[in-house]
Amino acid sequence: ETPAEKFQRQHMDTEHSTASSSNYCNLMMKARDMTSGRCKPLNTFIHEPKSVVDAVCHQENVTCKNGRTNCYKSNSRLSITNCRQTGASKYPNCQYETSNLNKQIIVACEGQYVPVHFDAYV
Ligand code: ATP
Repeated sequence: ETPAEKFQRQHMDTEHSTASSSNYCNLMMKARDMTSGRCKPLNTFIHEPKSVVDAVCHQENVTCKNGRTNCYKSNSRLSITNCRQTGASKYPNCQYETSNLNKQIIVACEGQYVPVHFDAYV
């Protein structure tokens, strides 16, 4: 799996325009293999076409949380779902809180301007 493919698996959900239920993150975090070995504590899904998210790599250049300079902020707000592991959640029963948001996203891009990491939403 390439970094670009990993980004698609972990962060892209174009099929749904928003999280369909409060169970969304519980189902999707498992379906996208982020609950094997450990529960990934925090993850964001993006409900937009791939073309829209790829295009962010050509939008506003910003500094990433880790200090690198290959991050880009979307010009517009996008439909996203934030998944946060609940306090009571214990591996292998990973439990998440599902939050639907409309926010500008910040992604790291590499190579031929493809997203490889979800940095933040603002
Ligand atoms: P994500 O960060 O998208 O939630 P993850 O938690 O699995 O995914 P990583 O496994 O570190 O985190 O995946 C991020 C990928 O993005 C790695 O291949 C990393 O090398 C790459 N990358 C490129 N630029 C950056 C950056 N500025 N900050 C963090 N990761 C970056």
